[in-house]
Amino acid sequence: MVEEVLPKSFEDLIKDVHEIGICGECGGCVSFCSAGDLHAIEMSESGPPHYANKDKCLHCGICYLVCPQTHILDKELNERYNYKISIGNWGKISSSRANSEEIRKNATDGGAVTAILIYLLDKNLINGAIVSKREGPFNRVPFFATTKEELIEAAGSHYDISHGVVSLEKYNSFVPTITELKTVLSSDTMNIAVVGTPCQIMSIRKMQELSILPAHIVKYTLGLFCNLNFSFDAEARKKLEAKFDFSFDNVEKLNVKENLIVQLKNNQMKYIDFKDVHEFARPACFACRDFSNVYADISFGGLGSKDGYTTAVIRTKIGEKLYNNALRDGYIQEPSELNTSVKKSEMLAKVISFGKRKYNRYKKALKERQ
Ligand SMILES: Cc1cc2nc3c(=O)[nH]c(=O)nc-3n(C[C@H](O)[C@H](O)[C@H](O)COP(=O)(O)OP(=O)(O)OC[C@H]3O[C@@H](n4cnc5c(N)ncnc54)[C@H](O)[C@@H]3O)c2cc1C
Ligand code: SF4
Ligand code: SF4
Ligand code: SF4
Repeated sequence: MVEEVLPKSFEDLIKDVHEIGICGECGGCVSFCSAGDLHAIEMSESGPPHYANKDKCLHCGICYLVCPQTHILDKELNERYNYKISIGNWGKISSSRANSEEIRKNATDGGAVTAILIYLLDKNLINGAIVSKREGPFNRVPFFATTKEELIEAAGSHYDISHGVVSLEKYNSFVPTITELKTVLSSDTMNIAVVGTPCQIMSIRKMQELSILPAHIVKYTLGLFCNLNFSFDAEARKKLEAKFDFSFDNVEKLNVKENLIVQLKNNQMKYIDFKDVHEFARPACFACRDFSNVYADISFGGLGSKDGYTTAVIRTKIGEKLYNNALRDGYIQEPSELNTSVKKSEMLAKVISFGKRKYNRYKKALKERQ
């Protein structure tokens, strides 16, 4: 008799992801649960999601498939996106920035991401983009931006500590972008762009591979490089302040490139090695192997570019057309002195090197958890 192979279910997700401590609490499984209306599973106050009504679970396995921490669709995605180890598929690498000074002023690096999103809106190629906006001094929330002004407001990673630092909630650089996807669909013909970290873009690609609605409305994926994601509570911030001799009251901006960069209001910079902040990173990040966002249409980061510019790795035909058109129409600029073949090789070498480091970190973490 042939034994029936059942799809993996939420029980397997508990075993394979939650119990080994690598759930990133992204909310993807809860948002796209087939028994969502029946509240089979729900988010927890803190920690991984849990069964709310176990008997309502349909054992369909969708939660397991979309979770960025299961590698169940690796083969399919790697084939579709021509994955090459540590850097993924790429056609062009460049250093660019937004033409608009207003965007650059708000941006994390050169504002290329925001400028390209505005190009998409101006040309009516999208109805809006899922980005993240500041909510309170240290928090960001996923947000569906439909105007140029909203996109500019959502740019960058500046701190706004005008609300007072005393009642600071936990600072968390992770934003549950995937859950926002569930709420934006107002029409089947809608087109959107999504900005996200590698784990977020991977979830979207998994959904597209499986035709899970509404992933079909995502027409452009703008990926961000990501080495680690942090979560600083009050105690962690105190430790950092003492160790690196600064006060969060005086922080103007946080950025990540080759290290964690803290820019103070007096323009003093603190460069903090990633290994010194490992203890504040989200545990799920140690089981993540993608640095350069290998499944995105275009991936962006500060690494490899001089300050005020964004490195872009163009990966898909869609990404190539988008980037070239935004450049042609003057939304972004690519100074030739920053894009010589030598500079491009240097940029590429850095991205590959960080990709390899992250891949090795993932291998080590997996071994330790086995
Ligand atoms: C958590 C995180 C880790 C990163 N790690 C690295 C790194 O190790 N090395 C490196 O070189 N670059 C890293 N980056 C990318 C880098 O910080 C810039 O976002 C990138 O260079 C684009 O710069 P820009 O000025 O063109 O983008 P901008 O024009 O400023 O646009 C940035 C876009 O990203 C969105 N965004 C901001 N925070 C988040 C978030 N947490 N989740 C989803 N979307 C968000 C904004 O809403 C905005 O739409 C990281 C980004 C994030 C969010
Ligand atoms: S119904 Fe499907 S998606 Fe929802 S918890 Fe059960 S197995 Fe997961
Ligand atoms: S990582 Fe996200 S999708 Fe996976 S179990 Fe945790 S909350 Fe669910
Ligand atoms: S390190 Fe990986 S798991 Fe962590 S936020 Fe970045 S992409 Fe997601």
